[in-house]
Amino acid sequence: MLTDIEIAQQAKLLPIAQVASELDIHEEELEPYGRYKAKLNDSLYNRLASKKDGKLILVTAINPTPAGEGKTTTTAGLGEAMKKIGKKAVIALREPSLGPVFGIKGGAAGGGYAQVVPMEDINLHFTGDFHAITSANNLLCAMLDNHMQQGNVLGIDPRRILIKRCLDMNDRALRNIVIGLGGKMSGVPREDSFCITVATEVMAIFCLASDLLDLKERLGKILIAYTYEGAPVYARDLKAEGAMAALLKDAIYPNLVQTLEGTPVIMHGGPFANIAHGCNSVRATRLALKLADYCITEAGFGSDLGAEKFLDIKCRLAGLKPNAIVIVATARALKYNGGVPKDKTALENLDALKKGIANLGAHISNMKKYGVPVVVAINRFNNDFEAELSYIENYCRENGADFALSEVFAKGGAGGVDLARKVCEAAEKPSNFQPIYSADSTIKQKIECIAKEIYGADGVDYTSQAEKALRDIEALGGDILPVCIAKTQYSLSDNPALLGRPAGFRITIRDLRLSNGAGFVVAYAGDILTMPGLPKVPSAEKIDVDAQGRISGLF
Ligand code: ADP
Ligand code: MG
Repeated sequence: MLTDIEIAQQAKLLPIAQVASELDIHEEELEPYGRYKAKLNDSLYNRLASKKDGKLILVTAINPTPAGEGKTTTTAGLGEAMKKIGKKAVIALREPSLGPVFGIKGGAAGGGYAQVVPMEDINLHFTGDFHAITSANNLLCAMLDNHMQQGNVLGIDPRRILIKRCLDMNDRALRNIVIGLGGKMSGVPREDSFCITVATEVMAIFCLASDLLDLKERLGKILIAYTYEGAPVYARDLKAEGAMAALLKDAIYPNLVQTLEGTPVIMHGGPFANIAHGCNSVRATRLALKLADYCITEAGFGSDLGAEKFLDIKCRLAGLKPNAIVIVATARALKYNGGVPKDKTALENLDALKKGIANLGAHISNMKKYGVPVVVAINRFNNDFEAELSYIENYCRENGADFALSEVFAKGGAGGVDLARKVCEAAEKPSNFQPIYSADSTIKQKIECIAKEIYGADGVDYTSQAEKALRDIEALGGDILPVCIAKTQYSLSDNPALLGRPAGFRITIRDLRLSNGAGFVVAYAGDILTMPGLPKVPSAEKIDVDAQGRISGLF
């Protein structure tokens, strides 16, 4: 079979103006970025604001192996399959980060015959949104250090600075650094550290803001430091939010691209699914809901991370109501959850599958708790075994879950027709969407609710550091906010080694942080790296470009 990039390069793309006109987007609402990419300006949303929303479909997954389970692939393929059965769908996705592109995981534009194109552009820079976000964040940092250099009127304590510089790159050497060396004219020396752009609060804000003014107000609310007296310092205290928002005025327009079969895709923003909420911008989702009968969107990692946050943070804050949830499962990940090492998951092993399938069971019952109809998409790999696939199907049947075998990777939309039908049926059923916890419970009650209901934990323990952080956040009025738990994606628990459906465990919250502009409280259940590193042999070594600018080796 051809590689993803070979398939993508053979495709005949529609001019983006044609994709737009098929959605009845007017010429003046489209801001073309070359022939195959465009931004959608606010006059489009304003024109459609009173139109009825389409149905909202969320694609999530079981606990993944390190390679990913195929959520983006399934999302792209489902969008293509909707077209095959005569339904009008628009896909909403996150933009890829350069970190994973050059690291291990690879791109984030789907795979096989279910891809979003032009995949090279999308995976490398795209329309520059992440660079704009990087610049806005780093402007804030530069203004903060300059404030201390110029006399520090606010009395900012250099030991209590929360905001970090960022870069859209996996660069572990920037995790812990010292800045301001070189004498009086070169700044105030202090310890600092970089995070990757997708881990910044600016990214989370970008994805939750409803418009430019809301964006600006939220940027001003970022808690950046404490003074020597222990008083909070916000970005607005440095008068930074206006210039930051100015840097983002074009980035905030959602990007329009297409799948290999011409289904429209709105790709916009891309926060981490652990320390942030892990889904594309609210603006992209809202626009897709106005443009089509179905908006199909994805949330990062497994349903315990991305979907929980999509439902409890994004849907709550943006007033969205999902109509169906698709849980992507693969035989290989279920075997991995049954204890098979990563490099042996391609071998037939029904016993391991029978052990690991409890993981799927947990994700099904968890998602049903939100009152939204659920469909399992069994993402087929070409070397999957029939006996294993029928075991998964039977399990779904016995557990009262709708399911479909999805072959979109190998066949594009044609391989997802059954899935598309099941999803449309599910979306017709009544959806009684309810977040899992109520907004007015305390932070501890919210965390305990997620830990018990979603992770299956017996309870939650707090380190003394976390207790102190919680008191500080409560003092700043953070109690009313939803919580965003940062934990491993490999387990339902906070321990990556506990696979399947762990029971009889407690989780430990080690620290909490207020994402005041984004509007949630991050609770750390484990060490989450916000600046990843490159592996021994990074993907970057395989990527190349020829004299004509044709890229190779990009998966
Ligand atoms: P996720 O969104 O869950 O992280 P992706 O859709 O990005 O997962 O897929 C992860 C990787 O697995 C990609 O490289 C993709 O091409 C590959 N992949 C997904 N589904 C299949 C499949 N059915 N067969 C082979 N490879 C697949
Ligand atoms: Mg993905």
